[in-house]
Amino acid sequence: MLKENFEEVEERIAAACKRSGRAREEVTLIAVSKTKPAEMIRDIYDLGHRDFGENKVQELTAKYGILPGDIRWHLIGHLQTNKVKYIVDKACLIHSVDSLKLAQTISREAGKHGCCVPVLIEVNVAGEESKFGVSPVETEELIRQIAGLPGISVRGLMTIAPNVSNAEENRPVFRKLRELSVDIGGKNINNVTMSVLSMGMTGDYEVAIEEGATMVRVGTGIFGQRSYSIQN
Ligand SMILES: *Cc1c(COP(=O)(O)O)cnc(C)c1O
Repeated sequence: MLKENFEEVEERIAAACKRSGRAREEVTLIAVSKTKPAEMIRDIYDLGHRDFGENKVQELTAKYGILPGDIRWHLIGHLQTNKVKYIVDKACLIHSVDSLKLAQTISREAGKHGCCVPVLIEVNVAGEESKFGVSPVETEELIRQIAGLPGISVRGLMTIAPNVSNAEENRPVFRKLRELSVDIGGKNINNVTMSVLSMGMTGDYEVAIEEGATMVRVGTGIFGQRSYSIQN
């Protein structure tokens, strides 16, 4: 079941890349394993996959401790400043930076570990009340402020698009994030690259790829439905 799901997602990604004239290697699939047990992650790992996403610090660190060390763990959920210390040396990429305060905390904790933490800025493109993230107009200013901090480096942008029934409805959202990324990339801000565009989930990752996603975050499409009681 898992294997079939995974292979189907892989096929769809390949097809979306082909349709949009992109190389398959330009897009990283992040298997979003939140709420799912280590054994399921291990099954996907055994297929050769290495990029996994978690939205909670505690869950990421618990799984980090019991699964192979060559897994690349992506923190994709909202991050509280008091939890930063637990993950700065465990996440390969933090997708959800949306305030200077959070960036400053990451910078400080990275200093203690002597590492540099790559991050993405989470942008609330659609302006949804319920979502974290900075507004598109605030994004460049936040990036300029973070650029001056040691131990943290901005690598791109992330968005969580609205929950829609037809993925096409999110195309303008993905396009807008891409345009923002091109804009900011053109400013050549020191210590900042716009090489990553993390956008697209189970319902809309193909459209996201057509609009330039370099990372897609797929949970349900690989692992199946999450049990509601422990979701988020
Ligand atoms: C849960 C989650 C996903 C995956 O959602 P699916 O619809 O199950 O693919 C992607 N990104 C973030 C930030 C998430 O929290």
